[in-house]
Amino acid sequence: MRIMPPEEGTPLADVIVVGAGIIGLTTAWRLVERGWDVTVYDPAPASGATRAAAGMLAPASEIVWGQPSLYPLMVESARRYADLVERLVPGRAADVGYLPTETLVVAFDHADRAALDELTALQASLGLRAVRVSSLAARRLESALAPGIAGGVSLPDDHQIDPRALCAALLEVLGDRVIRSEVAGILREEDITTGVRLADGAEHRSGQVVLCTGLTSLPGVPSLALRPVYGDILRLEPSRGTRPLLTRTVRGLVRGRPVYLVPRRDGSLVVGATTREDDDPRPSTEGVHRLLDDAWRLVPGVLDTRLVETMTRARPGTPDDIPLVGRLDPGLVVSTGYFRHGILLAPLGSKVTADLVDRAPVDPVTLATLDPHRFDRPHPTAGGAP
Ligand SMILES: Cc1cc2nc3c(=O)[nH]c(=O)nc-3n(C[C@H](O)[C@H](O)[C@H](O)COP(=O)(O)OP(=O)(O)OC[C@H]3O[C@@H](n4cnc5c(N)ncnc54)[C@H](O)[C@@H]3O)c2cc1C
Repeated sequence: MRIMPPEEGTPLADVIVVGAGIIGLTTAWRLVERGWDVTVYDPAPASGATRAAAGMLAPASEIVWGQPSLYPLMVESARRYADLVERLVPGRAADVGYLPTETLVVAFDHADRAALDELTALQASLGLRAVRVSSLAARRLESALAPGIAGGVSLPDDHQIDPRALCAALLEVLGDRVIRSEVAGILREEDITTGVRLADGAEHRSGQVVLCTGLTSLPGVPSLALRPVYGDILRLEPSRGTRPLLTRTVRGLVRGRPVYLVPRRDGSLVVGATTREDDDPRPSTEGVHRLLDDAWRLVPGVLDTRLVETMTRARPGTPDDIPLVGRLDPGLVVSTGYFRHGILLAPLGSKVTADLVDRAPVDPVTLATLDPHRFDRPHPTAGGAP
């Protein structure tokens, strides 16, 4: 469907979204909801970082020191999740694995407990809900936890979704708007993007192009401050005749190392994730060993499961861990750099991106925070007093 802008009286041109990861798909879906005629190009939809993601929607447990601009975005996006799910799959939140239930974070030993206490203090100072629980109380909630854990924290606002199921639902709604083709470059006229050129040479023009290609840069697009941060992640299934180990997401610190176990509704368990910047896309043997070892120390029954998948993908990292969302020219919008929070940030990121396409007003603070050119600017102290 095409809609008419009242001020011009000519049909709005259609939009091309390049990339069908969680960001491209949610953005395309929003644009379709708003009446735009959208085409999405991706040779392998939902096969990038999105395929690996655990799907934790964790504004509280993902908080780290020194990122004051990021956490308001995470909190705001988490707040928007229930609405996104309800609009996408009305009354069927379970179909996309949306579980708005608490996350339990546990400490392996007393040093981990002290680190967890510091994080809890930070969460509380930011107004995020965090409730300390004793070791006994944690084990009452999840009986598979090891008897020796040093207590934990319950985070009522950290939830989860199944990214693969969410993408399947988005792909179903978008239907044949998603075309399995690779984009080789963008078309430009007088410094304005006018469409895309596919790998087979075909050219498709459009009023606006939205780049959601994660780490992949396209010829003709200004280079962006992105780097790959690899993560190894595992899928475990219960052995025959055994029951699922956990009922809620359990995160933990084991001798200072973070690990998480996310139960899926089919009984499987997602265990993750390493963080590596060694430029090697193959699963790290040491990483897999550590993940299993740390998960086993918190939940001994992990050793009774079957390892059904080992996956490695690169997170699209930026220098400040905050996405890059903005307009690059009158015909080109970019939305990438979601690093370790792309699933959580999808409701907010896709809304801001769709607003940019719509030329609707966007909160100026959010725009400045996400500005893809923010690293091009000279540092305020550059050239000033030493
Ligand atoms: C191990 C791991 C665990 C994670 N867990 C979580 C989590 O629990 N919670 C959370 O919020 N985030 C998590 N993340 C982060 C999250 O997965 C990413 O931030 C998010 O998936 C980024 O989405 P994206 O759509 O920008 O990129 P991608 O998912 O990488 O999608 C980019 C798409 O662009 C396509 N593409 C590339 N080049 C072209 C081209 N030339 N033409 C057409 N298409 C192209 C690719 O095929 C791909 O489908 C995790 C990441 C990893 C690696």
